[in-house]
Amino acid sequence: MTHKPSIAVIGAGMVGTCCALHLQNEGYDVTLIDRNGPGEAASSGNLGCFGIASCVPAAMPGVIKKVPAMLLNPKAPLKLRWAHAPKALPWFLRFIAASRRDRVEAIAKARQTLLNRAHDGIDPLVADADAKHLLSQTGLLFTFESEEAYQGASYAFELRRQNGVKMDLLDGNEARQIEPMLTPNVVRGIRVANLTHTVDPLRLVQALAALFERRGGRLVHRSVRGFDIGPDGVRAIRTDDGALDVDNVVIAAGVWSRPLAGQLGTPVPLEAERGYHTMFHGADMPMHGAVLSVDRYISVTPMMDGIRAGGVAEFAAPDAAANFVHARMVRRQAEALFPTLKSQSISEWMGPRPSHPDSKPVIGRSPRHKNAFFAFGHDHLGLTMGGITGKLISELVSGKTPCVDLEPFRPDRF
Ligand SMILES: Cc1cc2nc3c(=O)[nH]c(=O)nc-3n(C[C@H](O)[C@H](O)[C@H](O)COP(=O)(O)OP(=O)(O)OC[C@H]3O[C@@H](n4cnc5c(N)ncnc54)[C@H](O)[C@@H]3O)c2cc1C
Repeated sequence: MTHKPSIAVIGAGMVGTCCALHLQNEGYDVTLIDRNGPGEAASSGNLGCFGIASCVPAAMPGVIKKVPAMLLNPKAPLKLRWAHAPKALPWFLRFIAASRRDRVEAIAKARQTLLNRAHDGIDPLVADADAKHLLSQTGLLFTFESEEAYQGASYAFELRRQNGVKMDLLDGNEARQIEPMLTPNVVRGIRVANLTHTVDPLRLVQALAALFERRGGRLVHRSVRGFDIGPDGVRAIRTDDGALDVDNVVIAAGVWSRPLAGQLGTPVPLEAERGYHTMFHGADMPMHGAVLSVDRYISVTPMMDGIRAGGVAEFAAPDAAANFVHARMVRRQAEALFPTLKSQSISEWMGPRPSHPDSKPVIGRSPRHKNAFFAFGHDHLGLTMGGITGKLISELVSGKTPCVDLEPFRPDRF
């Protein structure tokens, strides 16, 4: 019997769990390591959308003028903990540099190459995990409550159109035919009909991790501290409970990948862009599919356990205490968008999106160690891109030509 090379994946979020499953499909002996349960960090509380229409990056032309005003406006979704400002400054400088029109267009094109293959990466895993009941293909509706907001978003929607996203333009009444509970203030809508969302992102990752274990994968509950490096690269992973020998390693630890990649000699400008949600448990307001309010900077998604509203981009240390004032701001915006939305039971959550200033993940081989691979930095799209990232990592590890050009996602591009 031939020896199957071993590979350890650090991080059992959406991205790491999908890497582990695709590597198993390639015949590797896979260990998935997480200090917590699968999917319990950023991957648990997101808005659940497989955002195939989200090629538009965060840094857009003109952002340099908008950022200072947004930071000073308590109602704006962009937040910065001032104590964190000196650490975040280099990130913001790169962010502004990424907002040049030619760069924006190249970034959108690169993001779309992953989005076009997103379902090739995730759908087979969901089918094998018997988790199709956790998906719903009811589309995404963008809403606008003023002509000004609609005109202001015209370049972003033109970018989507240029990248092949199919959208239907609606007036306010047509938008309310899809979502009758929307405020009468909505004057325009844009619909992406073929968009899928999960009705429970945490249960989805847990179902994928359960499949991984059923197939003989080892899920190890440990905290990774560092690496032992030999002449051929990473030899062992040091954890809080001893060392694990490995033939290969994948770093997929979300925002906490930065210090791990740094220990392997690759500095990356990864920041925690912390988002908040308010969950309206058991809310019985009828809702058809996911809604993204362009004026209010929030998304609202019908979930298995109620209705979830989320948003906010707070720059702070990943593990700093949450400030749930932001979740309450999201709640007020959701209640204004849907005036009949209410629930007896509300819960609030914060999770760190792992964000690079150029809105692209890192997917590739470590420039320094040939048996180490990086899969992190998926910002607002880790649920969407987890499956295809896992497929690409499995192709790279097994020496196949990746099905997407990975040049734009190189770890050493910064
Ligand atoms: C409010 C909000 C809404 C969002 N909505 C969407 C959406 O609709 N669609 C979408 O595609 N994306 C969405 N996202 C983004 C998405 O949630 C993230 O991009 C995604 O969860 C990142 O997944 P990940 O696996 O990289 O990281 P994580 O889920 O954070 O997983 C990283 C894992 O690594 C583990 N780990 C870290 N360091 C170590 C260590 N040293 N040792 C052991 N384990 C370690 C952690 O415990 C964790 O489990 C949203 C995010 C937020 C905050």
